[in-house]
Order: sequence, then structure tokens, then C-alpha cells
Amino acid sequence: MSQFLLEPHPSPTAPAQRAALLEAPSFGTVFTDHMAAIDWTAGGAGWHRHRVIPYGPIELMPSAGVLHYAQEVFEGLKAYRWPDGSIRLFRPAANAERLARSARRLALPELSPEDFIASLEALIEVDLAWVPSKPGTSLYLRPFMFAAEPFIGVRASHQVSYYVIASPVGAYFKSGAAPVSIWVDRVYHRAGPGGTGAAKCGGNYAASLVSQEAAYDHGCEQVLFLDAATSTHLEELGGMNVVVVMADGAVVTPPTSGTILEGVTRSSLLQLVRDRGREVVERPVVLADLLDGIRSGAVAEVFACGTAAVVTPVGRLAGDGFDQVIGDGAPGELTMSLADELTGIQYGRREDKHGWAYRVA
Ligand SMILES: *Cc1c(COP(=O)(O)O)cnc(C)c1O
Repeated sequence: MSQFLLEPHPSPTAPAQRAALLEAPSFGTVFTDHMAAIDWTAGGAGWHRHRVIPYGPIELMPSAGVLHYAQEVFEGLKAYRWPDGSIRLFRPAANAERLARSARRLALPELSPEDFIASLEALIEVDLAWVPSKPGTSLYLRPFMFAAEPFIGVRASHQVSYYVIASPVGAYFKSGAAPVSIWVDRVYHRAGPGGTGAAKCGGNYAASLVSQEAAYDHGCEQVLFLDAATSTHLEELGGMNVVVVMADGAVVTPPTSGTILEGVTRSSLLQLVRDRGREVVERPVVLADLLDGIRSGAVAEVFACGTAAVVTPVGRLAGDGFDQVIGDGAPGELTMSLADELTGIQYGRREDKHGWAYRVA
């Protein structure tokens, strides 16, 4: 395993100030004192200069490829403080593999799972005191990789930078587990067949932001995208997967067939559903059928899932020509029970039958 050289922050946050910041962290606004970094150069050198350095501006030429052609991928996972004081990541190997898949799609070099996990461990070791301990809080880790070569010709970059930054977080949505309203976009798509929908890349998010704005304009918190080929079935939200719970107990979710992101939260929740002996069906979900099912009562619950917010109940689905409350608009029973089970495993309150927790400290 590569050694990360440490350049300590010359004036780290004072303990009292850090404690104040950890009191009620909001999502993604406060960052720890350090960041991890690794460089990559084409032609033999590969990944090198593994280091942990003070959190601060990244020096980049205005011609750096990422600023022009968005050659960038990222990850998102959390470190949890357990009741025994240990610090655990949740299924980091899944994030390592996904980063490698995303990198391949964006013509970026693959970082080995060993380097990926070592970069998280190296940063957490230095900024251990930043892992918050209040219920529902965690340290959100954001690894990302981008084209750093100062060259505006169009080709894969010969210089690439990888960083990990960390941010203490509380609940993602200010409203906590309150159900969200979702706007179904009939104008734009986030990804198409053969595109980058299955890669976790900034470009997908850039393409989703006008739709997110439209959602706000219609009084909704989140946007749901339909498939680009037919505009008839559900894909996912801007940054979360979507799951439907039928009244007969089956759990239905769109398949990961290339245009949606394979969420670690999604796959973990589906496993927990199977563990309960319930049927999981990965198949296209037709919007018209979903709306019919909500009206008839055949659909009991809808929720969204992703690392940041974990499980988010959906209380209402709106779009051009429809505005439909789901059930009585309150969080569904299975939704809340799965949220409780998954967060229980993540925070060490429940047995980790699948060995998902990975101890880093
Ligand atoms: C990250 C992400 C998700 C959720 O993935 P998790 O691994 O569960 O955090 C879902 N959709 C998109 C578009 C994403 O970028």
C-alpha cells in the first residue's frame, strides 16, 4: 500500500471552534482541515505523490481540461462513529469499484481499490476529531478525479488529479424524514442510452440542474427523470434512486441497465428487503402505471435513496397534467422501517449480517 505523506495544516481549527461546527452541521458547507490527494501522469509514472495536505485552493491552469470538457468523476460515502468509539465506512469497496467504472467511462485512469480506501483512511486518521458523534451525523467523504492537464485540445487528459475532501454532516434535507414532493420532468433527460448515466460524473449533475430549478418552481424539492428513449418510464432523481412499494408487498425499482446510477444505498436496501423474504423486482416502471397504481391503492409507498439523505419518503408526485399525493402523503411503513434498519447497521446499532461496515479507526 502506498504511503501518504502528511503535510499538517499550519493553523488547524481550534477544538472549541470545531466542536461548535460539529454541533449542527448542515450538508456540505464545512470542511475538515485536510484533504488527501494523488496525481496521475500518462506514460509510465501512473499514480504518484500520495499525500495528505491542508484543505485549501487547488492550483489549476485556466486551460485545465476539466474546466472545458468536464472530464471528471466523483464518489460520495460516509464515515460513522459507532457507540464503541470506532469509525466505520459503509461498503467502501463498492464505491472503489464504481469510481473505477466511472473513470473508465470518462476516459480517466482507474485508481486501485487499495489506493482509494487508503486515501480515505489516511484523511480520516488525520481529521479523526472531525467525525461527529451526535445522532444522525457523520463525516461525508467526497473523492473526486479530474483532467488537470493544461491543454484545450479535445482528448483524454494526460494529467489527472484525485482528491478527497471531507465534510461533517447532519440530515441532508432540512425537513429530516419529512416526505418530499417530486417533480417529474417531461422536458429534459439526465442521461440517454450509451451516455454517461451509469457513471458518477459532474456532467450528469450539470445536465440535471435546470430540471431541479423547474422542480423548485413547481413547489417540489426534487426532480424525477424519465427515460430518454421513450419518456414513459422512471429512471431516477437527480442524485438518488427511486423505489416503489406495492400494496401486495413487492418492491419494484428500475433496473440498472446503463442509464441510471448503481446506488450503494439502493443495492443495500434491496438486499434488506430480500432478507425479509419480500420480493424485489427490478423492471421498468411506467409512469402512467405508477400514477394509476397510486390512485387505485395498488402502490403503497414511494421512496428515494442515496448516501447523502439515505432514505427519503416521497409524499407527492407532480408533473405536467398531474399532481398526485401518495397514500395519505405520510412516510410509508416499509420506507421508515428500512431507513431505520439501514442506518442502524451504518451506526453500529444493529447486527451487520452482510459485513458491510469497514473499520478505519
Ligand atoms: C450517487 C448517486 C446516487 C446514489 O448512490 P449511492 O451510492 O446510494 O449514494 C443515485 N443517483 C445518482 C445520479 C448519483 O449520482
